[in-house]
Amino acid sequence: MKTTASLEKKRKIEKMKIETRAPVVLDRAHHPISRKKIDTDALKVLYRLHRHGFKAYLVGGAVRDYLLEKTPKDFDIATDARPGQIKKLFANAFLVGRRFRLAHIRFKGGKIIEVATFRREPDPAEDERKDSNNTFGTPHEDAFRRDITINGLFYDIATFSIIDYVGGLDDIARLRARIIGDPANRYTEDPVRIWRVLRHAARSNLTLEEGTESTIFSHRHLVATCSGARLFEELNKDMHSGFTGPLMGLMHHYGILPFILGDIGSFFEADSDSFTRLLSLLSALDASANAGGVLSQHERYSLLFWPWVKQILSDCNQRGADKIKILNDAFINTHMTVVVPKALRSNIIQTLIIVDYMLKAMETGRMRWSLKKRARYPDASRVYSLIVNGHILEGRDPFEKSFRRKYRTRTGRPRGGRNKKTNKRIDR
Ligand code: ATP
Ligand code: MG
Repeated sequence: MKTTASLEKKRKIEKMKIETRAPVVLDRAHHPISRKKIDTDALKVLYRLHRHGFKAYLVGGAVRDYLLEKTPKDFDIATDARPGQIKKLFANAFLVGRRFRLAHIRFKGGKIIEVATFRREPDPAEDERKDSNNTFGTPHEDAFRRDITINGLFYDIATFSIIDYVGGLDDIARLRARIIGDPANRYTEDPVRIWRVLRHAARSNLTLEEGTESTIFSHRHLVATCSGARLFEELNKDMHSGFTGPLMGLMHHYGILPFILGDIGSFFEADSDSFTRLLSLLSALDASANAGGVLSQHERYSLLFWPWVKQILSDCNQRGADKIKILNDAFINTHMTVVVPKALRSNIIQTLIIVDYMLKAMETGRMRWSLKKRARYPDASRVYSLIVNGHILEGRDPFEKSFRRKYRTRTGRPRGGRNKKTNKRIDR
């Protein structure tokens, strides 16, 4: 096939370029990463590898974040030690990963430092012939297998210098996201890289390099071919990053939403008011994350899905409608690529149905307080507050607080009465 042959040719040319390129090395005097800044456990691991004669580089997001003056969330180390050798050096090391073995070094408080042997992007043709999964490589190859240049920098504990094979230092200085290698190849090999480009652009306010950007338009449909479980993992990372709004803004701009959220993504593309509403909900979500708030997973996802759920609930207003079934069926029929686990979906649905009641109650002054007995009532009360106030009002039940405030009688007690037909109490 022509496309496979030309992909193969491009790959070979890239490989040649990789093998001949010398890195830029910035010595300690010319970069801002001091050992004082580096996480002490990460330093311990780097030093121990180095003492035993291995190369030991801090890599990926941690180097990027230090250079951007942010605090890294996790620490990855690359080395020429093989997994078995790493295991022998650290009593607290656990080997993980089936296809590519790497070590997790565990520290107090659940902290994990990930140590991986240098590896290369697997070459499908070569690996088939060798019938092996061995993808170990050189530092060169390890840099070039990474996604964007600012994630491809190494901090070398032997010399305290930064090693740049991929032009990442220049892109850090320009705040630019640039795919390493040929964007079409790299997106085809792993379409999640499109997501990652947008994630880092959203988090660090990066502009996209021309090819990195234009190729998103021609390759975005490939995101829908990724495993739904993996896409859910990616979405999870972004749902509490504090940058969910900016990321969704970019996803929308680049037309990615339908490829991950199916018809829900198309709904947001077609209905700009609902998308604007979504962005304001996500800005409440981000504000809560940045203030150290601890929303549960289904509370976060309830905000993401609310504009779409609201639309469906407003279309099924006849009495006695089985809203749970209607929403469940609607979710299934959207053909989302992201696989939202059933239990999570069920919690979102139950929460949002109560939120819908709450919003109506606020308009009519009539509330069914028996809803308080439902398991998801406290979550709904918080989500209600995020939707209406943009933050969670203080107190155990923010919804009730707002309701009582609006519909209070002079005595301070809620207004009540009896339905003339049924003689049941109405609490207002
Ligand atoms: P974060 O701050 O979210 O942890 P990160 O860049 O460190 O950002 P990780 O998922 O921790 O992201 O990945 C660590 C490193 O592994 C990245 O910096 C990048 O170099 C490399 N990487 C991760 N995913 C890919 C991918 N799909 N393709 C190529 N390289 C990747
Ligand atoms: Mg990381």
